[in-house]
Amino acid sequence: MRNRKTEFEHKISVLGSTGSIGTQTLEIAREYKGISIEAMSAHSNIELLEKQAREFKPKLVCVTDEKKAKELTIKLADTDIKVVEGRNGLNEAASIDSAKTVVTAVVGIAGLEPTIEAIKAKKNIALANKETLVTGGHIITRLAKDNDVQILPVDSEHSAIFQSLQGCRDRGEIKKILLTASGGPFFGKKRNELCNITPEDALKHPNWNMGAKVTIDSSTLVNKGLEVIEAKWLFDTENIKVLVHRQSIVHSMVEFKDNGIIAQLGIPDMRLPIQYALTYPNRLPMKNNELDFTKYSALTFEEPDMHTFCALSLAYSALKNGGIKPTLFNSADEAAVDLFMRGKLSYLGISEAIEEAMLSVENIKNPSVEDIFAADKAAREIVYSKSIKRRI
Ligand code: NDP
Ligand code: MG
Repeated sequence: MRNRKTEFEHKISVLGSTGSIGTQTLEIAREYKGISIEAMSAHSNIELLEKQAREFKPKLVCVTDEKKAKELTIKLADTDIKVVEGRNGLNEAASIDSAKTVVTAVVGIAGLEPTIEAIKAKKNIALANKETLVTGGHIITRLAKDNDVQILPVDSEHSAIFQSLQGCRDRGEIKKILLTASGGPFFGKKRNELCNITPEDALKHPNWNMGAKVTIDSSTLVNKGLEVIEAKWLFDTENIKVLVHRQSIVHSMVEFKDNGIIAQLGIPDMRLPIQYALTYPNRLPMKNNELDFTKYSALTFEEPDMHTFCALSLAYSALKNGGIKPTLFNSADEAAVDLFMRGKLSYLGISEAIEEAMLSVENIKNPSVEDIFAADKAAREIVYSKSIKRRI
């Protein structure tokens, strides 16, 4: 029902429109007819992409799987929609002339290159794809500054921090960031209780409904590790403390020099941070996301268990060392999660694989995009080549 009356107008491109963030972005566009979708992309889910394309009538759609792209070209032959394919196609969707903002909602390091292209084309970025900042934060932040574009966080914690910083004129006033974590489905368990965890167990997130990769990453605390690094680039501080907050109501906080703390609260619903990134600095109404405090008898905060969930301490080490270490952390995890989902790596093997990749490749300070992709390849090779041994 695209009938909500609003002055608000926005032309956007949605990279990863068939995923969890992508479909919720389209839900917001369905609600606010002022949001028009200029381009959209999927990797292989052309059934859903075709439906989305017929509903939102973008100028261009991209399918990164080239065989599937050819199938979609035939399916959409009766429309004016241009179908493009592969990495170049994704870059085209990211830099399409008519869009003002690009929502980066693809999963993994695949988000880095199109985000660079979007920034070069002077698009604001509504950034869901945290891997972009984890692997290329130094490149992205510099490019964004040079091209005078905004990086608006979609990740709920970073949106909360961003919202908490509205009105803060001097970032030097920030004492620390308090990044909240749900703790995932295995909170309170020790390592010996995690030996036989299956993908089905790890896919049951207590509070959030997300794509498979980020759900597994939430259970290992890899996701929180990626978010610590993401926060460093977004808010220019390494003073970031993770707090386990089981209820996922406080989405993160900023502590200032005078020990005053500002937080953003709400029910766990990604539509709010997505919408705020699209409407910033304005706020528009949203249905069905009111928080009723009386339903919560307590909001609790605890230290994370970095011994059991050692991926979080590996992320802090990647943050401290910088260079290609965060890429090794991220890419080893992408490969390890892929193996775990296919039953070829144990659950605890995920953090072991990350550590091994991080230790095996020498660091490069201030890496170029080519260095980042070489590190990505090296990490994947290490993880895939050792997977059989590790399973035993
Ligand atoms: P999903 O797995 O649900 O969706 C991923 C999207 O990317 C799909 O459109 C998928 O297409 C596409 N895609 C998959 N692989 C590739 C590839 N190699 N190249 C190009 N496109 C690809 O992921 P989410 O929506 O959960 O997450 C997207 C990003 O947002 C991630 O970086 C995640 O960390 C971040 N994020 C997600 C949150 C959430 O609530 N889901 C919260 C905060 C951040 P297809 O459908 O065809 O496979
Ligand atoms: Mg998050």
